Amino acid sequence: MSDDRQAPILSIQDLHKQYGEHHVLKGISLDVLPEELVFIIGPSGSGKSTLLRCCNVLETSTSGRILLDGKSILGKGVNLNTVRQQIGMVFQHFNLYPHMTVLDNITLALRKVKKKSKQQAHEKALLALRQVSLEDKADAYPDALSGGQQQRVAIARTIALDPKIILFDEPTSALDPELVGGVLDAMRTLKAAGMTMVVVSHEMGFARVAADRVIFMDNGAIVEQGSPQAIFEAPRHERLKTFLSSVLSHG
Ligand code: ADP
Ligand code: MG
Repeated sequence: MSDDRQAPILSIQDLHKQYGEHHVLKGISLDVLPEELVFIIGPSGSGKSTLLRCCNVLETSTSGRILLDGKSILGKGVNLNTVRQQIGMVFQHFNLYPHMTVLDNITLALRKVKKKSKQQAHEKALLALRQVSLEDKADAYPDALSGGQQQRVAIARTIALDPKIILFDEPTSALDPELVGGVLDAMRTLKAAGMTMVVVSHEMGFARVAADRVIFMDNGAIVEQGSPQAIFEAPRHERLKTFLSSVLSHG
């Protein structure tokens, strides 16, 4: 169990998001502690992606606060490039540039956003590739890699920027089943190295072994949260029980 007295890396406070009349996030409050892996589950349309996108300021929230290391990321004077470097995001689709090598895909942001020299960016990128066990693919082009390897490159690209936290939105959902394990292994390596992570995923087996806390969202709200054991072995709300039985019967 995490130490409650630690200051959170990410603090989401009474966050609301509306699209017109459609109230998609209805007052989400969530603190993510250093080195914690918070796992978010919930039915399609419950607002999981919207929540992550608000945290990365890809969506503007309607009201509420989001603090990174105690500082608001929603204020007027906030530099969004800095926020997005500090709050890394890994998506279902891994948007690598096809005309650039793996190494160049990773060094691009290091040079543009972090103003690293070519040499520094190169070293940093290789280090990040080593963390996802792909240092031997540095000179390959994305289309020579499997989907799982491409996703690991996308993870390396994110970690090379030294984020304070990484948000994963269904990182394995677009992958063939045999490629999922390699990506989950990379995420476990990151966790072991002390990275703070929020993971939206349907990989319940991974949640059981890797998550510190599981959050169940439904209809724009956090309905229940607890240890993986509490959530999976002793769910309290009917909606969570129904959700788990539907996912586990298809999984
Ligand atoms: P999840 O990731 O849990 O499946 P989402 O966050 O993608 O859920 O979506 C939550 C709700 O918000 C859904 O009802 C979806 O239709 C709606 N929604 C998401 N993006 C938009 C948008 N750009 N405009 C209008 N409604 C949206
Ligand atoms: Mg989603």
